[in-house]
Amino acid sequence: MSAAALDLLELGLEAGQDEESIRDLQNQIQDLHAESQGLREQVAAYQQRAERAEQRTQMLEQAVNTWQAKAKQIVGICGQCKTQLTGADVLVTGSCPTCHRTVATALAGNSDSGLDQKELLFVLGAAGLLLGLLVASGGGK
Ligand SMILES: [Zn+2]
Repeated sequence: MSAAALDLLELGLEAGQDEESIRDLQNQIQDLHAESQGLREQVAAYQQRAERAEQRTQMLEQAVNTWQAKAKQIVGICGQCKTQLTGADVLVTGSCPTCHRTVATALAGNSDSGLDQKELLFVLGAAGLLLGLLVASGGGK
């Protein structure tokens, strides 16, 4: 029992000397003890939640950085105007930034598209990782 609790008990003994007030004090001490225990558990739970949120934020930042690097990567050349196409051109706009010819056909495996399938897979991987993390962080507790 803590010093403060003992003080309370002593005060109770001095004040009333009757059984009832002592029992009241003991009950109050038990209530306070249970309450502080509950608060400690809540604090621990909040800390865990904050740590998880922090981890998710870091993972998302990394994924965004990866995606930004991959999005700028040249994955091919436009078959029509020979403009270099980036991952973002292919995955975000789906068209050549210069002549606006659609490049989405490349994803269906058209070998005449002028796109590097391997580079495109890396870009897709980065985009998928980012999407997965966004979904996970949205649904997380
Ligand atoms: Zn073009």
